[in-house]
Amino acid sequence: MNHQLYSVYELEKAMGAKAFIQNAHAPIRTLLIDSRKLHDVSFGLFFALQQRKDGHEFIAEAYQAGVRSFVISHKNWSMAAFPEANFYLVDDTLNALQALAGYHRAKFNYPVLGITGSNGKTIVKEWLFQLLSSQYRIVRSPKSYNSQIGVALSLWEMTDAHNLAIIEAGISKPGEMAKLATMIRPTLGILTHMGEAHAEGFSSFEEKLKEKLQLFSLADRVIINDQYASFLPSQNTAFLWGNQVNSDLQLTHSSDRIIQAVYQQHLQQVEIPFEDAASIENAGCCWATALALGLTTETIFEKMSRLQAVEMRLELKNGINDCSLIDDSYSCDVSSLGIALNFLKQQKQHDKRTVILSDIPESSLSEEMLYRQVGDLLREARVDRLIGVGSAIAQFARFFPENSIFFTDTSALLAALHQVPFANEAVLIKGARSFAFEQLSQALLQQLHETVLEINLNALEANLNYYRAQLQPNVKVMAMVKAFSYGSGSAEIANLLQFNRVDYLAVAYADEGVSLRKSGITLPIMVMSPDLAAIDTMIEHDLEPEIYSFRVFSAIDSALKRHKKQKYPVHLKIETGMHRLGFGLDEVSVLMERLKHTSSMMVQSVFSHLAAAEDPAEDAFTREQIAIFTQATEQLSAGLGYSFLRHLANTSGTTRWKEAQFDMVRLGIGLYGIDKTLAPGTLQTVTSLKTSISQLKSITPDDTIGYNRKGKLPQGGTIATVKIGYADGYSRALGNGQGQMLVNGQLVPTIGSICMDMCMLDVSGLSVAEGDDVIVFNHELRVEQIAQQLQTIPYEVLSGISQRVKRVYYYE
Ligand SMILES: *Cc1c(COP(=O)(O)O)cnc(C)c1O
Repeated sequence: MNHQLYSVYELEKAMGAKAFIQNAHAPIRTLLIDSRKLHDVSFGLFFALQQRKDGHEFIAEAYQAGVRSFVISHKNWSMAAFPEANFYLVDDTLNALQALAGYHRAKFNYPVLGITGSNGKTIVKEWLFQLLSSQYRIVRSPKSYNSQIGVALSLWEMTDAHNLAIIEAGISKPGEMAKLATMIRPTLGILTHMGEAHAEGFSSFEEKLKEKLQLFSLADRVIINDQYASFLPSQNTAFLWGNQVNSDLQLTHSSDRIIQAVYQQHLQQVEIPFEDAASIENAGCCWATALALGLTTETIFEKMSRLQAVEMRLELKNGINDCSLIDDSYSCDVSSLGIALNFLKQQKQHDKRTVILSDIPESSLSEEMLYRQVGDLLREARVDRLIGVGSAIAQFARFFPENSIFFTDTSALLAALHQVPFANEAVLIKGARSFAFEQLSQALLQQLHETVLEINLNALEANLNYYRAQLQPNVKVMAMVKAFSYGSGSAEIANLLQFNRVDYLAVAYADEGVSLRKSGITLPIMVMSPDLAAIDTMIEHDLEPEIYSFRVFSAIDSALKRHKKQKYPVHLKIETGMHRLGFGLDEVSVLMERLKHTSSMMVQSVFSHLAAAEDPAEDAFTREQIAIFTQATEQLSAGLGYSFLRHLANTSGTTRWKEAQFDMVRLGIGLYGIDKTLAPGTLQTVTSLKTSISQLKSITPDDTIGYNRKGKLPQGGTIATVKIGYADGYSRALGNGQGQMLVNGQLVPTIGSICMDMCMLDVSGLSVAEGDDVIVFNHELRVEQIAQQLQTIPYEVLSGISQRVKRVYYYE
């Protein structure tokens, strides 16, 4: 949120727009690009961007919510429906957003650090913030906002009250950097680690490096590793760091967290609290930047020794008393609070929302303005209660919800925690580093059995978007969330899918649908096996049954009449070759007659299921299924006299049978990252199963391991006992070396039989310690491999992970 107001006239000029003004006094200060994430609406300017969907579709929703200024590109947009709104017509709304951001940036004369590279951008940005924030009032990109849109939003945060900006720039394909460079115009450039060329769609490393260096075309100086120096155009002045003798900061040695270097003929060293190679490289880059900005050796030494890890993800976990905890202590400023609150809003499984927030340090705003903004954000996110920690926030209780409470510091809150009621609510924990809120999340966390299934919600979102890009125009998406969303959890996934505007959800049983309704899901939900005993519950919760036989038809018809329902939405299942459930082609005409004679229900959709969509050897059969389905739907459509949705394709049907997408597709396993018809790497891995080592034991050649003495190490060795067994869903068939896990990056076999709650691994000769993490599956050791070892399919492995394994969700 930016507090500088822009007038109609200035906006028109900055964006080169043609303005249609229905309200001359409508200044703006906040940029809005997503109608699901609106705030400060009365001062908001909504950009109808052309992304996966056309942003113009959401103007009505934004207007409804109070937004009165819009940037559009549809020439014949009907403005009459929005009598109080101002419209700014441009050729391209993204260009207009960038032009406005560039115009805003040009108002400030303080240094702007522009960071680019393949890896480490966000870490370098955050570390520079940690190194420099006592000398400067810094504005920086929130999280990793570094895209064409993210950079514009980051620049918009610049104000008079700052005196240094740190902006991250990332590109995903050739040709993008020039636009970012024009917007950012960095005065000091920083290049971080450069990775492989192909990763970002470039044909050669050189091409990629040159593209990235375009960011610095107007920079006074560029901080760059000496190995890339020869690519820097001659107009740039470089500050070189690296191993070469002539570098400004020449690194000579690093080991055990100490980095040594020669600077201006003096040997110097810094100590950092990390020892991995990537951290050392990022620290070298930060050290060079700090020197180039003139920080003293003492300051650099002191601050570098206290660098903190950068966690960019929000974690959603189960808390005590049926609470959900969202843990985000990575940064505590207004923009990252806004991002975290959006996630809180998205997850609707609880009616009540609490935010635990510390004082917000190092803001450029006056405290009064700062906490007033925080109060506005909390109100917009419908937060019921604030628990404030710190002396500053407590002074502004008047801006916060009525029943808010305040504590002077974290230990005071911890001491009183047992008196503060927490039950069945969503709790966002957000505190500045110095408040050590990790103690709080520890106290509020449900005790963990240490095996966890981690679910990456961004990956799920990316997979959804991958399939959306494969759809013919106007084809809708039904997301399958049966069996706890293939083992990945239910409410959390469904809320994410609802936020991403899928059209339908489907579950197997009524009770799954009921629990989704109780978690705030308002999307239509189809129930595939409507239990006749649960029909009343289903009707009470607006769940839509699948009707697959005359027996089910009659039961539902009479229940609907009992509830005096008219035109209740139902779904008809047609038998086309699966031989599981459904009406045969020969039953369709009778079905139609019965439908005509009842007004209790209305056919919302007609569908069938492909038996072997993924298998080229069965393509003739699949074609036949498509033909039967087409015939059945044509017959129904002609007879019923109203239209309904037709859907046939599951995940692999969606990509392999584009002609069979009809009106909607039903996506299941692909959303969760698995589709063997696609090239590896096309989808992102959603789930990782992790456990840990409880104990290490030395084994002699005579010892045996586990039940029935099945395990032996003829040469002797070391075994690790880990906390996962068949009751967690790790099949007993994976014992005795059939299964493998990853320990510190190395693949190790199971040894002995799998027990109910534990199993043993052969870790002979490896450097491992008790407490080390063990990966059961993730993006490297894939669930597909485990399924293959078990001679089954990934569906069974994923849905078989037991409910006692805790689910933890990540969202960036
Ligand atoms: C489970 C299911 C799907 C989803 O199948 P995937 O192969 O996981 O995409 C689609 N339709 C029906 C009827 C299902 O039961």
